[in-house]
Amino acid sequence: MPDTIAGFLHSNRLVNGRPDALRTWRITTGQFAVATAASDLLGGEVRKLPNGDFEIITKASTIHVFIIGEYVSIEMKKWHQSKLVHHCDGYTLLQAGSSYGKPCGCPNSITEIREKAKNGTGPQPNVIIYLKFSTADALGFFRLNSTSWKILELAREIKKGGAEYELTLTKRKINTDGGRTLLYFEPELRGNHSVN
Ligand SMILES: [Zn+2]
Repeated sequence: MPDTIAGFLHSNRLVNGRPDALRTWRITTGQFAVATAASDLLGGEVRKLPNGDFEIITKASTIHVFIIGEYVSIEMKKWHQSKLVHHCDGYTLLQAGSSYGKPCGCPNSITEIREKAKNGTGPQPNVIIYLKFSTADALGFFRLNSTSWKILELAREIKKGGAEYELTLTKRKINTDGGRTLLYFEPELRGNHSVN
């Protein structure tokens, strides 16, 4: 993982302690210079947060980024009664102890593993990606933490190499059982072209 990071990328924000999905990317950073550069690059006003950090709700729903495999970390976790009962990378166990590194038993296919998570019998993804903005790589690394299955799918591919990608918030609709339509914005990574 990189020695230093410039800031964080978020697809949501907390409103009264609850996550609120955004339609454009949000950036937080401890450095004012990074905040103003990000605002110049992606639009949006720099705002100072109560903890002293800076925040920009950008105007960008798509950001062009560069990611290399070694800066992608995939963890899968299943909690039961606030205990971590399954902790793996999708293939091998990451739980400390004698079973560390042994096959975890999760299915290889994302469709199957997602089905298990839905039934409460399998873990959920937690993907951490350190990325750079393609047009401003001097700014340094930004950390993206995502529980999106779409991001997991591409993260598995990225781990084998590296490339430029489009990081997008895509509008989705879900129809609830009560007949209501909910709109939300799902983070997605789209492969572009490999840079070798
Ligand atoms: Zn597993």
